[in-house]
Amino acid sequence: MLLTDPFMEAKEILDYIEKHDYEAYFVGGCIRDLLLNREIGDIDIATSAPPSVIQQIFNKVIPVGLEHGTVIVRHRHQSYEVTTFRVDGDYSDQRHPDTVKFVQTIDQDLKRRDFTINALAMDKKGKLIDLFDGKKDIEEKVIRTVGNGYDRFMEDPLRVIRALRFSSQLGFSISNETLSDMKLVKSETEHLAVERTCAEITKLFAGNHVNNGISYLINTEVYKYLPVMIEYPYIIKLFPNKMKPLQSFSSVIAFFHYLDPAISIHYWVKEWKCSNKIKYGALSLYDALAYYKNNGVDRWLVYSLPSAYYEEFSVLTDILFPDKVTMEQINSIDIRVPIKSKKDLAINGNDVREMFPEITSGPWIRNTLHAIEMEVVIGKIANSKNDLKEWIKWNQHVTD
Ligand code: ATP
Ligand code: MG
Repeated sequence: MLLTDPFMEAKEILDYIEKHDYEAYFVGGCIRDLLLNREIGDIDIATSAPPSVIQQIFNKVIPVGLEHGTVIVRHRHQSYEVTTFRVDGDYSDQRHPDTVKFVQTIDQDLKRRDFTINALAMDKKGKLIDLFDGKKDIEEKVIRTVGNGYDRFMEDPLRVIRALRFSSQLGFSISNETLSDMKLVKSETEHLAVERTCAEITKLFAGNHVNNGISYLINTEVYKYLPVMIEYPYIIKLFPNKMKPLQSFSSVIAFFHYLDPAISIHYWVKEWKCSNKIKYGALSLYDALAYYKNNGVDRWLVYSLPSAYYEEFSVLTDILFPDKVTMEQINSIDIRVPIKSKKDLAINGNDVREMFPEITSGPWIRNTLHAIEMEVVIGKIANSKNDLKEWIKWNQHVTD
């Protein structure tokens, strides 16, 4: 194989490790993506050198997962995971391997990897190490376990979900044998650490071939063991045929909540142990969808939705409504909104209070501000102190 630029840069790390009399290879997903001509995510390196040696010979290192043999090496402003050849012990808690054992050869290290397409290594000259016909499976677009599927899935049931994830990202089919092994082990996925499952499911929904991934998700019935869906398996039946890749788990939650509003966003977030950021995104996106359904797209919608979610909102409308709201539409509305937030209003709560010293403070102040915020956003009044005061004088009773 010809090394592309990212590999040429990382090659210097291999050179350096080899200079210290250890072996080192490019390994895993980066080789798969190189063979597929896909954009390379991270370049991972496997080595015979123990983590302590890697820490000694490189200047800039971050010992992220020493217990798993992983050290991050910084090189030319890039990060590389350098992992010592290892085999995993039991995953008795279904979360992490209890132990890892460092081994001497790349062959043993490749054997522990999940799928043949991920079990390729390449040396610094571009020579492939392909013990399990991974190259052939990549060419034939097949996902197949390394070794006995049933055993490998039982060892770490996350691999069942990873197979679905790769089918969605790559558009590959799953070999018949591997597929039936997934069906045998599917119920074990229920006990995985939610965070691990969520990372894979997020990638599944974001895949370029998401419809492929979802048809396998349904076909294997793995969805019946995922958080939330385990209680409400029928939601999968509400799925539209034309899915599009969803860029974040916020979109996934907003999407499902739109399909079935009876399952609250709060519940989705709790069961999937999502961060506040994911929750906030899901709430924002769902609010925008619900508003769009009733009112169409207008300045208030665009103003209320944080701009970081415009793209995802556009994708969701494409899936859920007959008419997609395009980014051009959103952006052309966005530039016409005179303020970005309440803080940009030409008056604040104190100004309103001073206008009516005889009325005691109360919710009416917030309501008044909310009303003028709306008027300013939709362009009914100008955002100037005088105009706003004038409007309040005439309309204050409405909100009192
Ligand atoms: P991506 O491009 O999405 O990062 P990837 O193939 O690099 O895809 P990672 O999750 O980053 O996937 O894992 C890196 C490599 O580690 C995989 O290619 C695979 O060889 C191995 N691997 C990761 N998770 C497992 C697992 N649960 N069981 C066995 N091997 C695994
Ligand atoms: Mg990776």
